[in-house]
Amino acid sequence: MIVAERKSLDEILAMLQGCSRVLVVGCGTCVTVCMAGGEKEVGVLASLLRLAAQREGRTVEIGETTIERQCEWEFVDGLAPGIRGYDAVLSMGCGAGVQTIAQRFGGVRVLPALNTKFIGIPEKQGMWVEMCLGCGDCVLDRTGGICPVARCSKGLLNGPCGGSQGGKCEVSKDIDCAWQLIYDRLASLGRLDLLEAEFAPKDWSKNRDGGPRKVLREEVML
Ligand code: SF4
Ligand code: SF4
Repeated sequence: MIVAERKSLDEILAMLQGCSRVLVVGCGTCVTVCMAGGEKEVGVLASLLRLAAQREGRTVEIGETTIERQCEWEFVDGLAPGIRGYDAVLSMGCGAGVQTIAQRFGGVRVLPALNTKFIGIPEKQGMWVEMCLGCGDCVLDRTGGICPVARCSKGLLNGPCGGSQGGKCEVSKDIDCAWQLIYDRLASLGRLDLLEAEFAPKDWSKNRDGGPRKVLREEVML
């Protein structure tokens, strides 16, 4: 899932300066699961905005709604009735959600309430960890299902650097060395031979350094 966290209230209030009608829009998918921008978080943020206005003696109208996914037109279109009546829309979706709403409703000021962090998983209650950088040329078949691009601090593809100590990364004792994890997993699978095999260089042209990427599936295009 895409993992995000809410911006500070001060930052959000600064973005909303001069706005008296604000629609807070949640997203019912990734950011609901990571407890950053679902229906519950929309309610909390809307209440905080009303309290802040009350403290300053301002009158505000704060609308609240949560749609299934902010990154798909069919759900975003459901915002059409009424969205143009607001001074600003505060999206609690990821960066893709914010941009989808802004693209659909030209002329509407759409602001991000979240910082989008990474593609990851909930490792335990209240903790999400990064798992994938969307490099476009997955190597997990060779690494025992552990991503060296996202989980090695240096993104190394050829085994550990000299700083790996006791299974921990030299960058921080709180980070497992990805290459230690890869070695242990391949050993448990009886596939340490993969560490000695020769592979063609990774195709970095599929990474995002060439600019924004597209996926085209002609067989499903209309
Ligand atoms: S190799 Fe690339 S696509 Fe595969 S998990 Fe890692 S970053 Fe994601
Ligand atoms: S210690 Fe391990 S995880 Fe850290 S940079 Fe070196 S190889 Fe990567």
